[in-house]
Amino acid sequence: MEDGDSRNYSMANAPHESDGVQLHIRHVPGGRFSEGVLAGLKKGDTLNVELPYGEFSLDEEVDHPVILLGTGTGMAPLKSIIEDQIKRGGSRPMHLFWGARNSDDLYLGDLPALWSRRLPGFSFTPVLSEPEPGWSGRTGWVHRAVLEDYPDLGAYQVYACGNPVMTTAALNDLTAEGQLLPDAFFCDAFVPSGEIQPPS
Ligand SMILES: Cc1cc2nc3c(=O)[nH]c(=O)nc-3n(C[C@H](O)[C@H](O)[C@H](O)COP(=O)(O)OP(=O)(O)OC[C@H]3O[C@@H](n4cnc5c(N)ncnc54)[C@H](O)[C@@H]3O)c2cc1C
Repeated sequence: MEDGDSRNYSMANAPHESDGVQLHIRHVPGGRFSEGVLAGLKKGDTLNVELPYGEFSLDEEVDHPVILLGTGTGMAPLKSIIEDQIKRGGSRPMHLFWGARNSDDLYLGDLPALWSRRLPGFSFTPVLSEPEPGWSGRTGWVHRAVLEDYPDLGAYQVYACGNPVMTTAALNDLTAEGQLLPDAFFCDAFVPSGEIQPPS
């Protein structure tokens, strides 16, 4: 940003789509970047970006089945991992759980259904915390849905991304109640990332 402050966003494109970068940006109420800058950007405007950073990627040393666990725009790096696996012809079982408030927040349309057709062993479970009337799918906290479906995660790896309240609760509950090994939990917590925060 003009004053030198910056924000962190996770890349949603797979590595083979390297001509550009795809970001999934949540509109934070009052956010200096997501409301103040992003809302005013026009096609052709220039932003300075630095990339890549971070260590949130699939552990290729093992072939354990994988639980992908995201809330909201926490989908971004999970999408990258899934599309990379499709490109490489991976067959490692992967179950994506995506938590959102309501179905409007599930912003990827039919993409998860496409992934189910293209990636052997892939399954998708959306979980809504504030479901609208008529929703017949899963409800509640997304990491609790994982525990309901996988009471024993001893042989799994879990990749959790998004709201830090979720990622902390997931680490605590999945290791304490689901026998997940702590070093089989990988996390990208979406904490506020600016240097200069607005006065509260
Ligand atoms: C490694 C990393 C990767 C990230 N990847 C993504 C991503 O792919 N997509 C994405 O949408 N976000 C992502 N985030 C979170 C994102 O960086 C912040 O939400 C962002 O800094 C908000 O900037 P802003 O200028 O819009 O809001 P700010 O002006 O920085 O914040 C406005 C107010 O909202 C609060 N706030 C800011 N962010 C959050 C938040 N995430 N949760 C709760 N309160 C918040 C601030 O404390 C402040 O009070 C990531 C964060 C990290 C650390």
